[in-house]
Amino acid sequence: MHPGGAVLQGKMNRIYFDNNATTPLAPEVFDAMCPYMVEDFGNASSIHWYGQRAKAGAEKAREQVAKLLNARPSEIVFTSGGTESDNAAILGIVGAARADRRHVVTTAIEHPAVLSTAKALERHGISVTFVRVGSSGVVDPADVAAAIRPETVLISVMHANNELGTIQPLEHIGQIARERDIYFHADAVQSAGKIPLDVQKLGVDLLSLSAHKLNGPKGVGALYVRKGTILRTLMHGGHHERDRRPGTENVAGIVGLGAAADAAVGNLADESGRVAGLRDKLEAGILTHVPYVAMNGDRAHRVPNTTNLTFGYLEGEGFVIAMDLRGIACSTGSACSSGSLEPSHVLTAIGLRPEQARASIRFSLGRFNTSEEVDATLQILPAVVEQLRAVSPHYHAPTTAGKR
Ligand SMILES: *Cc1c(COP(=O)(O)O)cnc(C)c1O
Repeated sequence: MHPGGAVLQGKMNRIYFDNNATTPLAPEVFDAMCPYMVEDFGNASSIHWYGQRAKAGAEKAREQVAKLLNARPSEIVFTSGGTESDNAAILGIVGAARADRRHVVTTAIEHPAVLSTAKALERHGISVTFVRVGSSGVVDPADVAAAIRPETVLISVMHANNELGTIQPLEHIGQIARERDIYFHADAVQSAGKIPLDVQKLGVDLLSLSAHKLNGPKGVGALYVRKGTILRTLMHGGHHERDRRPGTENVAGIVGLGAAADAAVGNLADESGRVAGLRDKLEAGILTHVPYVAMNGDRAHRVPNTTNLTFGYLEGEGFVIAMDLRGIACSTGSACSSGSLEPSHVLTAIGLRPEQARASIRFSLGRFNTSEEVDATLQILPAVVEQLRAVSPHYHAPTTAGKR
C-alpha cells in the first residue's frame, strides 16, 4: 500500500493543502527506496559487493539530481536536507573567503535556514545586508546591486518563497553576481519540481534542495556546488562526498531524492498546469464566495501550487484549527514559524500589519490533490469563516463599506 494511504483511512476523508510544509512520499519513490533499507544495506564506502550496490544506488541518484538542475553529477553533494544545504553554502563560502571579504547580501523574506544563518554570521563580525522587498514579495535586482560593496563575498536569494510562492528574478541577480565576481547561492527548496530549474540559466554557484518538499523522504537534500567553488565544510570526519560532506551516506534517502528528482523531471510539464488549475480554482472560489479576502504576493510571478490570502476579521490560527476539525489541512505562514507569537517576517516584509499577517492563510497544493478536494473545500470554507467572524468583536455585516 502507498504509505500516504494510511492518512486517508478512517471515517473522515482528509484533505492536505500544506505541501509547502512537507509533501507525501510518492509511491514510486517509496518503491525505489525499499531495497536500500533491506537487502542493499551496505556502506557506500565499502569495497565489497554490499558497498558497491549501495554506491551504485547513490551514484544513480546523483545523476538524477544533476539532470533536474542541468548540472554535472560531480557538482551534487548530498546533505541532510534544505537547512543543512543552506548552512553549508553560506557558512562554507564565508569560511573559505579571504579576510577582506566579510559582507553578505541576502533578502528580508528568506527561509529561517538562510535568515538565521545570516544572523549568526553577524554575531561573528560579518556584515549582512537584508534587501527589502515591495508589496509584491519580489526582490528588485537593482536593490541587490545597490547593496553590493567591495568586500561582498556572497549573495543568497531564494528562488520561490515558501509563504507567498513568489518567484525571485534569479537570472538577473546571477548576472549581477557574475559581473562583480561574487558567489551566488539560491535556496531552491520551494521551486524544485514546480518550475524548471537550470543552474546555468540561473547563474548560481550554489543551490539548495530538499527531498521532502518534492514528494521525497525527510532528512535528505542536496547542495549543488559549481565546479571550482571552494567551501569550508561544516563538519569534520571521513572522506565522503569527495571531502565535501563527511558521514556515512543516507543511501535509502539519497535514492529517494534521486527518484523524486526523476519523477519531477518527468511530471513537471503536466503537473504544473494541473496544480495551477486547482490552485486558481480554489483561490477564485474563495475570493468570490468570501468577503474581505485579499491575495498576497504577485499573481504573475509565483509557483503554481501556492496561494496566500488575508481574511479580514479572522484570526488565522483559529481558522486553521477549525478547518482541521473538518479534515482540511492548511496553514498560517510557514510550519517553521508556527507556534511563535511573532507575525510572519515575510508578510510583514511585504507591508502587512501584524494583525493582517496573523489573519493570513497559505494553501499549498501538490501532486495528490484533486479537483473534488477543491470543490469539497469550497463547500465548507465560507461557512467556517462566517462562524469565526460572527464571534469577532470587530466584524459587522459584509454589506458595509469594508476595508480588510
Ligand atoms: C522547508 C524549507 C527549507 C528547509 O528544508 P529542510 O529539508 O526541512 O531542512 C529551506 N528553505 C525553504 C525555502 C524551505 O521551504
